[in-house]
Amino acid sequence: MAMVKANAYGHGLVEIAQALNDVDSLAVARTEEARMLRDAGIQRPIVLLEGIFDADGLIEASELACEMVVHCDEQIDLLCQAPANAAFIVWLKLDSGMNRLGFPIERFESLQDSLRRLSSVVELRLMTHYASADESDAHTLRQQIEKMAPVLEAFDGEISLANSPALMRDDVDGVAAGQGKHVTWVRPGISLYGLSPFDNLSAADLGLRPVMNFETRLIATKALAPGDRVGYGGRFIATAAMRIGIAAAGYGDGYPRMLPDGTPIMVDGIACQLVGRVSMDMLAIDLTPVADAAVGSHVQMWGDQLPAETIAKALGTIGYELVTRVADRVHRVIR
Ligand SMILES: *Cc1c(COP(=O)(O)O)cnc(C)c1O
Repeated sequence: MAMVKANAYGHGLVEIAQALNDVDSLAVARTEEARMLRDAGIQRPIVLLEGIFDADGLIEASELACEMVVHCDEQIDLLCQAPANAAFIVWLKLDSGMNRLGFPIERFESLQDSLRRLSSVVELRLMTHYASADESDAHTLRQQIEKMAPVLEAFDGEISLANSPALMRDDVDGVAAGQGKHVTWVRPGISLYGLSPFDNLSAADLGLRPVMNFETRLIATKALAPGDRVGYGGRFIATAAMRIGIAAAGYGDGYPRMLPDGTPIMVDGIACQLVGRVSMDMLAIDLTPVADAAVGSHVQMWGDQLPAETIAKALGTIGYELVTRVADRVHRVIR
């Protein structure tokens, strides 16, 4: 089950769904996203990860032939009132310790009984979500797995437990499955896009290659004298004569304004540094390491030359957030 929510983590929903043409299903957070996939002619199963929120949503989910997660009593009430022709594969979501979505595990037996009795539920499946699978200490993850074990034992049907970090670690037993008895669905997101879900392991360590190259070009170069200041507020002040380049990307494209002077950025494949505040449409780069850079030179903000995770760390966030926030106006070129 490929996670393509949030515009496929910023990579382009329809383009990625088309590229992932051999996955068994696609998962999104909103019915709007499911509609975009159906409008593009994609016929594979689509899972609504948060289910539906009202009666109109249920009709829409039915028209779009979506599978749905059911995580709260209000959603069961909606399923009870569903029109006679509505028929869903339902993923019963249990909360094994994350305390975000899902029913208490203790209610599993009675929920499964009520859901299996509904005519709008053609098949019942089971899922939970791990809160700490990316942490080097596996204690919390093991607790969640242990909580799920008796339920998996009692359940007859397809199940789904693991996100990217759970799938990629080999130090925890039973993290993906109750193997053998169950058909097991795995739910990779970030790893599909070639980013590491772990703090202490890079994508390269994991054998992943980033799918996104966030790139632009230089549109101007400029010679600075000592004391010259760069950009809004003049945050950067030249201490010696130097050359800078102005690149056509800014916070309006999803390159964060909060990035400090010195943030790495690649020009013609050579590591350079950001200077001055990022503007809406532009940013400035110290061209000292790349003497022959000129208007038209290639600039990479993150991608195969510079991991998004590195930039994310400079901001105190994760690669997930950076790639997801790449703006709509940025051209997606699929190679
Ligand atoms: C987003 C999401 C995933 C994928 O998580 P990654 O860490 O990106 O692999 C899996 N399951 C659920 C329920 C999600 O919302």
